[in-house]
Amino acid sequence: MLVDKHGREHSYLRISLTEKCNLRCTYCMPEEGVILKKNNSYMTVDEVIHIAEFFVARGVNKIRLTGGEPLVFKGFEDVLKAIGKMDVDLSLTTNGLLLNKFWESILKAGVNSINISLDTLNEEKFKRITRRGGLDVVLNSIDQALKYGLKVKVNVVVIKGVNDDEILDFVKMAYSKPISIRFIEFMPFDGNKWQWEKVVSAKEILGKIATEYDVKDIVALDRDRNYISRDYSYWGMKGSFGVISTMTDSFCGGCNRIRLTADGHIKNCLFTGDETDLLTPFRRGEDILPLVEYSLMNKHLKNGGIDFQDLSTMHDHRSMISIGG
Ligand code: SAM
Ligand code: SF4
Repeated sequence: MLVDKHGREHSYLRISLTEKCNLRCTYCMPEEGVILKKNNSYMTVDEVIHIAEFFVARGVNKIRLTGGEPLVFKGFEDVLKAIGKMDVDLSLTTNGLLLNKFWESILKAGVNSINISLDTLNEEKFKRITRRGGLDVVLNSIDQALKYGLKVKVNVVVIKGVNDDEILDFVKMAYSKPISIRFIEFMPFDGNKWQWEKVVSAKEILGKIATEYDVKDIVALDRDRNYISRDYSYWGMKGSFGVISTMTDSFCGGCNRIRLTADGHIKNCLFTGDETDLLTPFRRGEDILPLVEYSLMNKHLKNGGIDFQDLSTMHDHRSMISIGG
């Protein structure tokens, strides 16, 4: 088992397959784009698989493929197939645009849960947020995923003045479809023009929902000790909704997550500037276990050691697209 210095067991690996994406979401990708490294700086399909095997052999039992957009990674299906054979719970986070091309491989690999990002139900706004388009394709992907019997979570990053007027529309969606809507507080990353004023807190989100739905009918759903979302449902609702309150009420106590970036670095927290390069020593045939242990021994108890009230404490930070969400 991979244990950090606070005694937290790390059994959940999030692998970013690529820093590339077919969307350009304003809160994730800097306006000027990201400078990609040379091709050989990124993990190959075989390297992703072997490093994943290494983690699984040390107790990781859950792997999420993310990015950038994992579905634009050449070799996505090979990775999926190989990790699908490992003894892990395999899931994906995707913008949903390319799912139609990959359903067969996704189902064959045994993926049973998928997170699809969608921040607005309005086509014009979708174009503004993503600097591209494709709302109808994403909505169709959500329906397809449900048809295939997958567990579907819809990630909504809530930004003041941008989409906070759609909170109730998303809740309504969870009424008629068995999906789990997860409202995410807007988080600061390199180049995303984050400001506290743009954050809609979990409290505000729930307050908004309570204006329409009677609080006495709300059911708080069970959560496990590694939860990141507090989930609720109403009587009669097919799905559920939840809030990921990273900015106002973080949930680091039960953190079991470790991240592998597309260039083969591990990050022990989304917010830490500290990274440990695994890929270079891995390519030299060296044992990477001491490096993973070193990273975990340096893991902060909360928020990667940064203070959200003073972002000067956040340094050597990447944009979200190059960390992997
Ligand atoms: N391309 C895929 C997608 O959009 O689902 C996977 C990668 S994306 C970086 C992973 C998740 O991070 C998405 O749900 C996205 O909404 C979320 N995300 C990106 N930037 C964020 C930010 N600044 N604050 C909160 N969530 C963010
Ligand atoms: Fe791409 Fe996902 Fe980032 Fe949007 S949130 S730019 S879809 S990686």
